[in-house]
Formats: sequence, structure tokens, C-alpha cells
Amino acid sequence: MSDLPKDPAKPHGPVAVGELSIHVDPDICIGAATCIAIAPNTFLLDSEAKAIILDTADADEENTIIDAARGCPVAAIYIEKNGQRIYPA
Ligand code: SF4
Repeated sequence: MSDLPKDPAKPHGPVAVGELSIHVDPDICIGAATCIAIAPNTFLLDSEAKAIILDTADADEENTIIDAARGCPVAAIYIEKNGQRIYPA
């Protein structure tokens, strides 16, 4: 685990993680932290309780990251693979 964003210029993304591109909309995120419980290498809350994408995200399996997006109660996590939106579908 880390507490550093993968891209310091865009802590909420979109950032590339393997074949995925991950983006958290901080205006929608309510800091529920479900994503962090599911994919702790990928997500962490910043000082404003908004999820950021960590520089250790590559340590989480692709399916784990997608499960984290599915688990977000407000659907604040967007995932693309090879340029195609895969979540929300
Ligand atoms: S699960 Fe959703 S609302 Fe909760 S911290 Fe993650 S992105 Fe934000």
C-alpha cells in the first residue's frame, strides 16, 4: 500500500493502470470508502474524503478494481479498458 497518487497532477484520474483507465469523480464521491476496502492498493481517501488513485494500483488485479467500482454506492468510479467504457456499462 501507498498513500501517494499515481499521477500527482490528477490524483482522481483518469490514470492508466495496466490496460485500465480509472477515474473518480470527486463531485460524486461521498467518501464511503467501499472502494478502499475492496481495492486497498488502488484507492485511498484524500484530506477532503474523496477517493484518489494510488501509485500501487498495479498491485491490484483488474477484476478487483472493477469490483471496487461496482461496490461504490454512488457510482463515482469510471473504468475504461482499451479506450472502451467497461464500468458503468
Ligand atoms: S466507494 Fe465511491 S463514494 Fe466511496 S470513497 Fe470510493 S469512490 Fe468515493
